[in-house]
Amino acid sequence: MQAYHVPDSSGLIKLDAMENPYTIPTELKSAWLSFLQDVEINRYPDPECSGLKQGLRSVMSIPDCQEIMLGNGSDEIIQMIMMAVAAPGRKILAPEPGFVMYRVIAQTLGLEYVGVPLNEDFNLDTEAMCAAIEQHEPAIIFLASPNNPTGNLFDETTMQQIIQIAPGLVVIDEAYFIFTDKSAMSLLEQYEHLLLMRTVSKLGLAGIRLGFLVGQKEWINEINKIRLPYNINVLTQLSAEFYLNHYEQLQQQAEKIIEGRQQLFAELNRMETIKVFPSQANFLLFRCSSDANDVHASLREQGILIKNLHGSHPMLNNCCRVTVGTAEENQSFLRALRHTFSSY
Ligand SMILES: *Cc1c(COP(=O)(O)O)cnc(C)c1O
Repeated sequence: MQAYHVPDSSGLIKLDAMENPYTIPTELKSAWLSFLQDVEINRYPDPECSGLKQGLRSVMSIPDCQEIMLGNGSDEIIQMIMMAVAAPGRKILAPEPGFVMYRVIAQTLGLEYVGVPLNEDFNLDTEAMCAAIEQHEPAIIFLASPNNPTGNLFDETTMQQIIQIAPGLVVIDEAYFIFTDKSAMSLLEQYEHLLLMRTVSKLGLAGIRLGFLVGQKEWINEINKIRLPYNINVLTQLSAEFYLNHYEQLQQQAEKIIEGRQQLFAELNRMETIKVFPSQANFLLFRCSSDANDVHASLREQGILIKNLHGSHPMLNNCCRVTVGTAEENQSFLRALRHTFSSY
């Protein structure tokens, strides 16, 4: 194995990790800091996170009949769900290219991972998915919609078909829910083996590490047995509660990011040297007509850090992923990219 590598970004415009580029207005920041003033740092945090769960429930319109479990980022939740079902011979299945942590965590737990290729437009290959589910009988199927690193939403009819034939759990990963108006939340009532996962990381709160899982209580209660006590620290609990009370601020930033995504897409779509793929997330995937390693290195030399996906999956040959930044950052990226291609 290799440890998860995070490249040094000091001095660079950071467009590699789907972070929200906006800072918090000074006034709101002061209000947040005074909210934290009374925190009892000598005490263990509330193990049930009741206040925070209530906040999530109302802001995210989580139905009362659904249970919530919190994780130290959704990465920890992925780990907990897998630990809960782990046993020799059990398999995890996900479409590919997709979110790498499904594979990484499955492998660390000794579970077998099955990646099923998406079709050419990065949508679910219904036949291939159904055949693989029948063959492998996965204990868990992960579907990230919008998908990372491709950016597209998966077809809802196909997702339902998959849920209906799944012999185990299905987890729909909605890390990018704020950038799209589609959600599987309403399906939870219909399917008891369906779980919905979200995170605040892409909303502008990546630093506090908070993800959550929603589903029927029978399943959530089982997975909750794996959770270490106090996994959500007190600063995260209070900060998340505070920002959920100012959710409109995060939503406004998300709207600006969506606008930026549309502008960036239009600009990239005009360039003949690359092919950009449509996205419902806060990033864009594009394929270079030349070596993506060179493009990535050239951008880095010009002070722009994006994600090079070349070599990570055969369908991502010469592909890079760029996070939507502020208007200025997007312009700097475009300028650097045009400069890169003009110098060939
Ligand atoms: C970023 C991302 C996550 C990880 O979220 P954290 O809460 O920061 O751990 C999960 N799933 C997908 C698809 C992502 O892109």
